Amino acid sequence: MKTRITIIGGGIAGVAVAKTLLEKTGGEAEIQIITKDKHYTAGPSRPLLLTGEQQLDRITRGYEELILRGVKVTHGLVTKIHPDERKVEIVQSPPSNESRSNIEYDILVVAPGVVYDGSSIEGYDQARGKIANVYEIGRVHTLKHWVHSITKGRIIVYAPPMPYRCAPAPSEMTLLINTILKARKARDNVEVIHVDANDAPQPPVIAKEITALFEENGINLIAGRRIIELGKDKVTLDDGEELEYDILALLEPNRAPDFVIEAGLGSQWFEVRSPENLRHVKYDDILAAGDVAKLPFPKNQEIAYESALHAVNNIIDELGIGEPVKVQYAFLGWVYVGNPKGELQTKSLKFGLNFTQKPPKPTKDPEPKTEYTKAKDEWEQAYLKSLFGY
Ligand SMILES: Cc1cc2nc3c(=O)[nH]c(=O)nc-3n(C[C@H](O)[C@H](O)[C@H](O)COP(=O)(O)OP(=O)(O)OC[C@H]3O[C@@H](n4cnc5c(N)ncnc54)[C@H](O)[C@@H]3O)c2cc1C
Repeated sequence: MKTRITIIGGGIAGVAVAKTLLEKTGGEAEIQIITKDKHYTAGPSRPLLLTGEQQLDRITRGYEELILRGVKVTHGLVTKIHPDERKVEIVQSPPSNESRSNIEYDILVVAPGVVYDGSSIEGYDQARGKIANVYEIGRVHTLKHWVHSITKGRIIVYAPPMPYRCAPAPSEMTLLINTILKARKARDNVEVIHVDANDAPQPPVIAKEITALFEENGINLIAGRRIIELGKDKVTLDDGEELEYDILALLEPNRAPDFVIEAGLGSQWFEVRSPENLRHVKYDDILAAGDVAKLPFPKNQEIAYESALHAVNNIIDELGIGEPVKVQYAFLGWVYVGNPKGELQTKSLKFGLNFTQKPPKPTKDPEPKTEYTKAKDEWEQAYLKSLFGY
């Protein structure tokens, strides 16, 4: 019987594992992805949906070409992992009713990304309808609608404590909202406050540049303070200060999904042996890839991809097939900073970190450029083409 390699999650890490293993095993293993949605939408350029510079169809892909290449793709929501029985429980919701089933595996790769969890913030459930952000597709459209409608009042943007996925995205939200308000000639009547639970806007390598841009654009930065309570029109910070809001662009604290924690694979993130050995600390046959893994690096697309290749190397080593894939932890990123003239033509900063050097070697061009926005689009499109086939 072929080795059954089951992958939870059809995102950057899950598809990278499937595609690379397919090439390496040449049909000698059964490779199955279990993923909840019938399509994947890339993350990095979602903030540009706010300004209308990105369209959903350009960043959304189906799994059909992956299926044609030989990957089995099952659409279902994973609810449980039973590590001792080597099986995964899934729920599928066909049009008429719900069905539950088990999928058995020989090797399991856990790559479901993160959960955005507001439950640690008092009053979150009651205020839920007042919160949007650029992280989830429906909510991006809600935020876009709100920011393009507001005529006066206050917008609060919130970044939770690290680690969360894509460190600069909350600051991108703030600077793009500022630009849209300027473009709409509404900025004079709308105050913008960026509350950051971290000591400075993230990541640290570009904190100085982001802080300077906030100052230049009259954005009030409140750093090192957490939002601990939410009302329908005000937030309470951890020092008791209350701030009223009209729009709340809040990113919830991030963590691994419940089924990872309930299976004993980690308390907040999946516990791997090391950045190069993605096996679970206790189970040889369960590996992680992508944002769900507890790694000493930022949670972003390049790191997710690189961790996936390390997981592939762990698997091919165990199966005794082929040469390892060449991979090292390093990334290049582009941060949308809006446009000081209020034109909907976003400029970006460029930065990078190379973790093969100790301490990690940063690179950056602090001068915002529109060409970097274009470069980020090309980079994202190249990933989608390579992973999804188009
Ligand atoms: C707004 C935003 C901006 C970003 N900007 C950047 C950037 O500029 N640069 C950068 O490098 N990275 C950026 N990222 C981060 C990047 O998108 C992620 O780091 C990357 O997608 C992580 O890959 P992953 O495979 O771990 O998770 P994902 O790509 O999220 O894939 C997870 C998959 O698992 C599936 N899944 C989840 N739960 C279940 C379940 N219970 N059952 C079945 N399937 C499940 C999901 O549907 C999804 O298909 C950004 C992300 C966002 C949202």
